[in-house]
Amino acid sequence: MSTDELRERALASLHRIGAAVPEGTGLHARSPITGENLFALRATTAEETERAIGEAAEAFRTWRTTPAPVRGELVRTLGDLLRAHKSDLADLITIEAGKIRSEALGEVQEMIDICDFAVGLSRQLYGRTIASERPGHRLAETWHPLGVVGVVSAFNFPAAVWSWNTAIALVCGDAVVWKPSELTPLVSLAASHLLDRALEQTGAPRELHRLLLGGRETGELLVDDPRVSLVSATGSTRMGREIGPRVAARFGRVLLELGGNNATVVAPSADLDLALQGIVFAAAGTAGQRCTTLRRLIVHRDIADQLVERLAAAYGRLPIGDPFDEGTLVGPLITGTAADAMATALERAQAEGGKIVAGGRRVGTNSGAYVEPAIVRMPKQTGVVREETFAPILYVLTYDTFEQAVALQNDVPQGLSSSIFTRDQQEAERFLAADGSDCGIANVNIGTSGAEIGGAFGGEKETGGGRESGSDAWRAYMRRATNTINYSSALALAQNVSFL
Ligand code: NAD
Repeated sequence: MSTDELRERALASLHRIGAAVPEGTGLHARSPITGENLFALRATTAEETERAIGEAAEAFRTWRTTPAPVRGELVRTLGDLLRAHKSDLADLITIEAGKIRSEALGEVQEMIDICDFAVGLSRQLYGRTIASERPGHRLAETWHPLGVVGVVSAFNFPAAVWSWNTAIALVCGDAVVWKPSELTPLVSLAASHLLDRALEQTGAPRELHRLLLGGRETGELLVDDPRVSLVSATGSTRMGREIGPRVAARFGRVLLELGGNNATVVAPSADLDLALQGIVFAAAGTAGQRCTTLRRLIVHRDIADQLVERLAAAYGRLPIGDPFDEGTLVGPLITGTAADAMATALERAQAEGGKIVAGGRRVGTNSGAYVEPAIVRMPKQTGVVREETFAPILYVLTYDTFEQAVALQNDVPQGLSSSIFTRDQQEAERFLAADGSDCGIANVNIGTSGAEIGGAFGGEKETGGGRESGSDAWRAYMRRATNTINYSSALALAQNVSFL
């Protein structure tokens, strides 16, 4: 598709959604499909950012006393609008992030799913009643809305990560100020406008959600503002390392979702057909640009040659190109810089003793950054393997004993997602045990990517430790109060202390 066609398609989607393009200076909307700019946009100024945070803080004051099930109605309406505009939003995701159609639609489906989850949650924000040690006393905990949640998000899930945070934050009684990736402004304008429509339809305060368009400096204003109670930031470990201490310095809360370096162990008993499918999707899907992308394959020595040969053959058949073309499975990398980083990593891997057994070349004729997903056999887990390169490179390592496999899996600074392919139940359970995988996500007979929203999502170590989405991740968006109620007529002190 040409840049003019992409521009027209983006405008048509935005028009159906009802969102306007704020033309001006400071920011560009561009498409990795052609590598060219689509629109010049007006970035949010520092004064506007300051005002937006103030407005959100004010809206929070009324929202926090709105009953949670009523707050759920807002999120239900957002979910309905997402259903109605699923295709439009998916188009914008493909245009700005380069995802193939089914993955872009999948991203919007994830948004719909989290809205459904959050609506149910709006009636289930449970606290506990705890046995009191004193007669005539009740001990309980109550969960209250927290305040303004600042959401900083990455380019690769330009809409879903916002919805994980926003749907949950809104039912929890919070307001949200969103600083999306500067690489995906159109998606954020569209998603934000759908929420504006939901706010209007349900009569909730419009200022409950504010969108800031800009780069790192705009994000920093959000990070440093004491009116922002929680900063939920998704992106590189570099970004998390910068913002974590800044938020901590003002005693704010931080929820970090950072880089991964995900591994799959393939045991000798594995169903290799299943493993092959799981590995190819996890490693080459989304052109290797998921935080959960499979980057390290740890395969038993006895089956390594056979598996690598089959993988290389499968890689040779992957259709690479325009993500709007039916049949394409690998779209472009987000920028030429990302393709350069991939080339540099491949050079380093070879210098560290690696051998490229599939892909690795740049392809295509326009200025989009299209690359062949690569497979590299490595003699050991060298420096480059221990880093996250946000591109489709799969490093293959071999092992002899299960203990070695687990040690290799855990011996990287990141701790997001991991999996094992095995038909040995003992081995599967050991992989999931306390001394097994050290990741936030550990799977059996499935790849590392493509999590469901029902579970808590996030990882350990340099991945940041945060948990978003399902399970009890909502607790990060609320504050807990412990309540002791004395319904007797005596004042009993805890721990039998006597006084007066
Ligand atoms: P990035 O770190 O370059 O940018 C992410 C966001 O942070 C952007 O909105 C950016 O403007 C903002 N930002 C950067 N520096 C900042 C600062 N100092 N203060 C405030 N804001 C700042 O990441 P990216 O290239 O957009 O995304 C790819 C990375 O994100 C990969 O490392 C990937 O693994 C990670 N990621 C993690 C998860 C997860 O859930 N763990 C999900 C998606 C992506």
